[in-house]
Amino acid sequence: MSLPPSTFATDLPAQHASLASLFGFTQFRGGQQQAVTQLLSGHSSLAIFPTGSGKSLCYQFCAVHLPHLTLLVSPLLALMKDQLAFLQGKGIAAGSIDSTLSADEQRTTMERVRSGEIKILMVSVERFKNERFRQFIESVDVSMLVIDEAHCISEWGHNFRPDYLKLPDYRAQLNIPLVLLLTATATKKVKLDMAKRFAILPEHIVQTGFYRQNLDLQILAVPEQQKAHTLLQLVQRQQGCGIVYVTLQHTAEQVAQQLAANGVVAKAYHAGLADEIRQGVQQDFMDGHTQVVVATIAFGMGIDKSDIRFVVHYDLPKSIENYSQEIGRAGRDGQMSYCTTLGNLDGLHTVENFVYGDTPELRGIEHVLNDIRQGTQVAGDAQLTEHQRGHQWEVQIHALSSLSNIRQLPLKTLLVQLELLGVVRPQYAYFADVRYKFLHDKAEVLGRFDAQRQAFLNLIFQHTDFKKVWGSLNFDSLFAQTGSERSRVVAALEYLQQHQLIELQTKQMTEVFQVDVEKLNQGQMAEKLYAYFMDKEQKELKRIAMLVRFFGLDKCLSHNLSRYFDDQQAPEKCGHCSVCKGQVAYLDVTNEVPAIDSHAVAEAMQVLAKHIQQKQEHPPSADTYCRFLTGMSTPLFTRLKVRQVSGYALCAQVRYGAVKEVVSQILAQ
Ligand code: ADP
Ligand code: MG
Repeated sequence: MSLPPSTFATDLPAQHASLASLFGFTQFRGGQQQAVTQLLSGHSSLAIFPTGSGKSLCYQFCAVHLPHLTLLVSPLLALMKDQLAFLQGKGIAAGSIDSTLSADEQRTTMERVRSGEIKILMVSVERFKNERFRQFIESVDVSMLVIDEAHCISEWGHNFRPDYLKLPDYRAQLNIPLVLLLTATATKKVKLDMAKRFAILPEHIVQTGFYRQNLDLQILAVPEQQKAHTLLQLVQRQQGCGIVYVTLQHTAEQVAQQLAANGVVAKAYHAGLADEIRQGVQQDFMDGHTQVVVATIAFGMGIDKSDIRFVVHYDLPKSIENYSQEIGRAGRDGQMSYCTTLGNLDGLHTVENFVYGDTPELRGIEHVLNDIRQGTQVAGDAQLTEHQRGHQWEVQIHALSSLSNIRQLPLKTLLVQLELLGVVRPQYAYFADVRYKFLHDKAEVLGRFDAQRQAFLNLIFQHTDFKKVWGSLNFDSLFAQTGSERSRVVAALEYLQQHQLIELQTKQMTEVFQVDVEKLNQGQMAEKLYAYFMDKEQKELKRIAMLVRFFGLDKCLSHNLSRYFDDQQAPEKCGHCSVCKGQVAYLDVTNEVPAIDSHAVAEAMQVLAKHIQQKQEHPPSADTYCRFLTGMSTPLFTRLKVRQVSGYALCAQVRYGAVKEVVSQILAQ
């Protein structure tokens, strides 16, 4: 299926007129015109422009001129809401289907999409798992699929989101002729990977320059003990507001306090704070009441403040991609802005530990595969035939994460890999735990309905186990006696909730998969998956090594940063980075790393082994020991309260590789 060629696609004066009348803009910015022309001519495209340079306009403009719906997939609710507000401000009908909407609002949005009134619909990638949404979107003609922050699809990228790997399949299933991928940060490898997955031709990749003339990049080699002092001096020298990035939440708190104690209006921002507090911090910053926000990477996406004068990396950023996005928030107004990294290698092991901690153990993968095998034997949803039920698997991510000792994100990655291998196929999801309480007298609630509905509701009420106020619905007994479908029961309860007759609580999201038992039992399945994760671990570690190399470069930083993102246009010497100014940073470990005491390690290992044996678990593996010694948190440690065991985090300052060497030696004895 392809789009009819339209003369508008190449009619530049008409496009300009439309740009002015729709958006009030006098001209296209770099790259926009090319992207728009390609798309309107029916060519799927990939647009790589720096943050803040107007990627969204490419799809917004085209959406108005395409015959059917434009479906936008976005990784963050905040990004969606910003774009919705912008479009609404321009009088362009757009909507989203997301978790903040009531069932009623969702229905209204769907109707407006179906009638063709809404031309742009925004969803998260997880929405495709929702059976009702799938049915709906399959019944609508979609002209274009837009993927914002599209680098999330690449395993080579810095923000890999496993569910994004399924987007090419969704596109095929929904028969969407056009695709537009948007990203600010893509290395050559990521770029080619993304394009290949959506069959985008090289000539349809639109890339504008990476280089920012108004960003002064400075790398300072600063010993750990002097960082706080150096930061204070830096901030006191600055006019205007800025962001200080740190790795850990408690560092954010600590650094903000130190700045505040010295008279700087500074606030901390991280994922551990309540939503209202975070929103307050962000708003005060936007309004210019707070000069400095000390933040973890949770802060930034979707922040559109043009006069950020400085960005400081108090700790090394997670990757070059993160670095470039974070400094990219400075100086959107084109004024000179200062980006300073306080570098040393003391925190390197912490950054690496994030990577090691995300690699599942072979044993954990085997646990998951066995869980699937067992799950397929027990009955799933009673609506299905005996045959279908025999091949079904139900999973609650949280519980499986705990039992398999695989963190939630890698566990989701594992499930996506199994899906891509054809071992499992998602069916639908439901809440295993449905509770409610009456907001009105039961008789009064029933009295509002006709006899037939009353009878149905009565059955639901009878199969609810009430304890004082709240009752849990017992689906199994309800089904056994009445054969009522789960979806119908839930719909009825949702209706009561909407009319404020009950308060409804749903918990324990359960995902149901269809299993291909033959594929599941192919030889070496666990080993193959394990190899995939080991490979991923190596890629991540390489990325960190590259980051360290970047900060120690003795050639122009701006030039090399641009080159990293495959932009060959940047000047050889920018003249406004620390290297061009004659200052090469030699990063090193500045706090003395304690030598590993192998006796103490052996002792700690014994204590852990004993603790785990008491809890009747498998004896610890080498990696379990290492995670214990380096003080990582894993689902197993949480479950067994391992953090209180003596020896936990004994080697917290040592790199994982070095700990593993010692552990392996001890185990070999
Ligand atoms: P990105 O997604 O690339 O980070 P956005 O799409 O959010 O950037 O755009 C940043 C800002 O630039 C928005 O406020 C947008 O309205 C504005 N903008 C985009 N294109 C143009 C244009 N051609 N002329 C003027 N302003 C534009
Ligand atoms: Mg954007």
